[in-house]
Amino acid sequence: TTFEDLKVNKSILKVLTEIGFEQPTPIQEKAIPVVRSGVDVLGIAQTGTGKTAAYLLPIFMKLVKAEGEDPRALILVPTRELSIQVGEDIEELTTYSNIRHAAVYGGIGWTKHADLIKPGIDILVATPGRLWDLYKAGAVSLKKIKTLVIDEADRMLDMGFMPQIRQLLEIIPVKRQNLLFSATFNEKVEEMSHEFLDFPERVEI
Ligand code: AMP
Repeated sequence: TTFEDLKVNKSILKVLTEIGFEQPTPIQEKAIPVVRSGVDVLGIAQTGTGKTAAYLLPIFMKLVKAEGEDPRALILVPTRELSIQVGEDIEELTTYSNIRHAAVYGGIGWTKHADLIKPGIDILVATPGRLWDLYKAGAVSLKKIKTLVIDEADRMLDMGFMPQIRQLLEIIPVKRQNLLFSATFNEKVEEMSHEFLDFPERVEI
């Protein structure tokens, strides 16, 4: 299988060639068609397997191009480091696309992040606490969210983010596609997938 077979956008394919992603990794090959089909997905894949692109590439396919002001895809991550990392991956992959994004996290003043969102974005990467701060301050609208990713779900659980995630899910549109990625699978992750996903398809490597 090639990225072309998976119907990745032309503008993204150009970057993949340039950065030397010659072919999809196993998790990408399995997850991309399933995510594209529109169902909820429970992905079990560790860091280093290419799991980030496994959810980013189908998001780019769904968004196509920049549109409106409010983000249409939300990626929740447990840490500042992962938020920055995913933001950098999006930045690189969208070199030849006009898709806009912002990556936000706690530990610095929220007004700086509000300024990143203000001009209009398509994808928002956020830690739960920071997203709640921005939402409460009226600095972000979540009304247009159609895809939600919860990345490193097992770590989210370990860090006690469940109450904050529940709170956030109450304010984003019910009609959306949910993708939950976790490095490990256990009872807690299973409960989380039951709570947040609708008839998920499980993808693992
Ligand atoms: P991740 O599991 O998302 O943390 O990705 C691990 C590393 O693999 C990152 O440095 C990616 O840039 C790289 N990577 C992801 N997909 C591919 C691919 N298809 N071919 C080569 N490298 C990749």
